[in-house]
Amino acid sequence: MSDEPLHEPQQALHVEDLTVTYGGTPALWDIDLDIPPGVMCAIVGPNGAGKSTLLKAALGLVRPVAGHVRFLGRPVRAMRGLIGYVPQRHSVDWDFPTSVLDVVAMGLYRRIGWFRRPGAADLERALAALAEVGMQDYAQRQISQLSGGQQQRVFIARALVQNAPILILDEPLAGVDAATEEIIINLLKRLRDERRTVIVVHHDLTTVQSYFDWLVMLNVRIVAQGPMAAVYTPDNLRTAYGRQLAMIATPAAETPP
Ligand code: ADP
Repeated sequence: MSDEPLHEPQQALHVEDLTVTYGGTPALWDIDLDIPPGVMCAIVGPNGAGKSTLLKAALGLVRPVAGHVRFLGRPVRAMRGLIGYVPQRHSVDWDFPTSVLDVVAMGLYRRIGWFRRPGAADLERALAALAEVGMQDYAQRQISQLSGGQQQRVFIARALVQNAPILILDEPLAGVDAATEEIIINLLKRLRDERRTVIVVHHDLTTVQSYFDWLVMLNVRIVAQGPMAAVYTPDNLRTAYGRQLAMIATPAAETPP
């Protein structure tokens, strides 16, 4: 753990004055953000709003030009292994020759150390986590052979064995069928009910209110943040999405005559 004093330890995620640019163009501009522990938070905003960049910058995977980030009061380098991160599916090289069970057992490495192979008890734990997400029958499969929704469930199982208090997922529902979507959302809600913090980039405004209880609306800047009912308002949606909103909210209206 770091010797730095805790800063805003009452927040699961605290972001201050964060600006990120790519080649001089700002992707995030002066972001101040607080997500309290134990909420299920959606991050929404139009394409290119900086949602993925926000997750990556928070996790230290992208270097900001300004600002700082704390998880439960600590810098991210002091929290490695305590944050479960499920990146966007297309951003991962799914061809690596790794079994489903290995992927889940990786979640234990912080505890068992990188240089010791997982023992029988560790593998038992990994298998139990796979059973919790309904994937126990796939333990010996290569991760690349699974569908997108199945891969998401395996990564959630890894977060379960990690016992991560904070879980961050980038569009976990993109391209999954309705049944899998329900399984994943119910799993995430259960993690939230165990007082973990679940932070999800979500693209579907029609489900955001029923799935989540906390909302961050982003469009390079923060448009609004807070409890769902206070933030999910027509005014905020207009500010975040502008002219794209009619297309998102009422697709039928966009059909040409
Ligand atoms: P979102 O997740 O909301 O769609 P992103 O965070 O992926 O938005 O991207 C925000 C902006 O930054 C977009 O304009 C995107 O094209 C740009 N961007 C993202 N990643 C990179 C990168 N590695 N290099 C250059 N530009 C990038």
